[in-house]
Amino acid sequence: MIIDTHCHLYVDAFDSDRTEVVERAKEAGVGAIILPGIDKENHPALMRTVKEFPHFCYPAIGLHPTSVTTDYKEELTFIEQQLKENDFLSIGEIGIDGYWSKEYMSQQQDAFVQQLEWAAQYDLPVIIHSRNAFNELFDILYHIRHLSLKGVFHAFSGSYDQYKQLQKCGAFKIGIGGVVTYKNAGLAQTVTKIDPSSLIVETDAPWLTPAPHRGKRNESSYITHIIQKISELLNIPYQQVEIFTRQNACSLFKIPYICPA
Ligand SMILES: [Zn+2]
Repeated sequence: MIIDTHCHLYVDAFDSDRTEVVERAKEAGVGAIILPGIDKENHPALMRTVKEFPHFCYPAIGLHPTSVTTDYKEELTFIEQQLKENDFLSIGEIGIDGYWSKEYMSQQQDAFVQQLEWAAQYDLPVIIHSRNAFNELFDILYHIRHLSLKGVFHAFSGSYDQYKQLQKCGAFKIGIGGVVTYKNAGLAQTVTKIDPSSLIVETDAPWLTPAPHRGKRNESSYITHIIQKISELLNIPYQQVEIFTRQNACSLFKIPYICPA
């Protein structure tokens, strides 16, 4: 059984065939999908998808760094309220993105710190989005390492040295997705060096489609290509990768029926 630890199944790219996408995921061996939040606007669709596929889709809540703008305080108030009223598996996706725009950098950092504090308060793992902002992220995480947070660096694209640095901040896993299947991606080399106990798998569907489907919409069933690639890189059987990535995911996310209680 596979856990897709990061999939945006609720976005409109899946509006016409969401049920079929879920059926294909189940046939491929996926037993659960974690849905990371983006912002207030996306939240209702996310919760609808969780309701539509019970015991299969699990909700996270968070303000995505690229959704941080002038009204981010309002967004954070919404999350604070939701955390009081509903159960979430995780806080995410949160983080810092210096790629699309640097305009709201200080607000992004502020929102990130606030949400990390809630993760500590509610004892929830975090799903971290990091793009062109490793040093800023590292500074924050190192500063609050006493909170003993756990979580995942989703769509990790950093170096082995950055991975080693992160381990000083807490129990952070590395989310491996479609990028590992791309030719010339340095990530494949990094994966061979990372401690296998740090690896979990994700699709980030509908984005970051793995080879051989690159160019098409991504979906959870394609996660088998990611596991296959890791199995080739580490030279161990597919089944074994499926087992240890699931166990690693369970050490973060307490998924009923799949993860040991
Ligand atoms: Zn995402």
